[in-house]
Amino acid sequence: MSDNNIHVRTRLKAKKVCDILIRYYGKAVSVRKLPPLDELVMTILSQHTNDTNMLRAFEALKERYSTWEEVLEAPQEEVALFIRSSGMYNLKAKRIQAALREIKERVGSLDLSLLKDMELQEAKQWLASLHGVGPKTAAIVLLFSFGRPVLPVDTHVWRVTKRLGLIEENISREKAHELLEEIMPRDCIPSLNNNLVRHGREVCRAQNPKCDECFLSHLCQYYTTFK
Ligand code: SF4
Repeated sequence: MSDNNIHVRTRLKAKKVCDILIRYYGKAVSVRKLPPLDELVMTILSQHTNDTNMLRAFEALKERYSTWEEVLEAPQEEVALFIRSSGMYNLKAKRIQAALREIKERVGSLDLSLLKDMELQEAKQWLASLHGVGPKTAAIVLLFSFGRPVLPVDTHVWRVTKRLGLIEENISREKAHELLEEIMPRDCIPSLNNNLVRHGREVCRAQNPKCDECFLSHLCQYYTTFK
């Protein structure tokens, strides 16, 4: 079978997966509507930690500093002290300040509103080229703060879509971002992160996935291969 046929089949399967997820979990768009800089800092803080520790660190920062400008101007060790609960705090303080500094240098102020109307691909590249900001963080800011149709590939999205056979087992997360956005129907993408994360937490768990209860099993490569 040609690459083109495989691609068409994968797209058809992606559409079926999207439709079924929407039928079971709904079409709620993943929007937190935090200001984009808050979302950006929060996502940097969330690296390699859980939501509770990340939120504790984020709240400590917001309590200590009134503006992101103040965070930028503060000594790095001081910022690190306030975000200790998130772990890897020296590195995260450095990344947060570097990203803020770069935004200020590029835009002239600490303002990301230019991303609202920027061409989507360009907006992703713009954000992902900031120090310490990868494709997942860029996608989170664009999706959650601006409601733009992008798919952050976190650990749940990555695992579930690999098991379903929508992407290959050995694909990198960076490549998975590109491929999944290419094969998924446009109108499904805004709700897809919500739905795949929910499915990954509740059914397609990392250990012992509940395949016998799964409404996607008839489409799932893992299920048809191993069950
Ligand atoms: S059938 Fe099993 S492996 Fe496949 S998506 Fe469902 S829970 Fe995950």
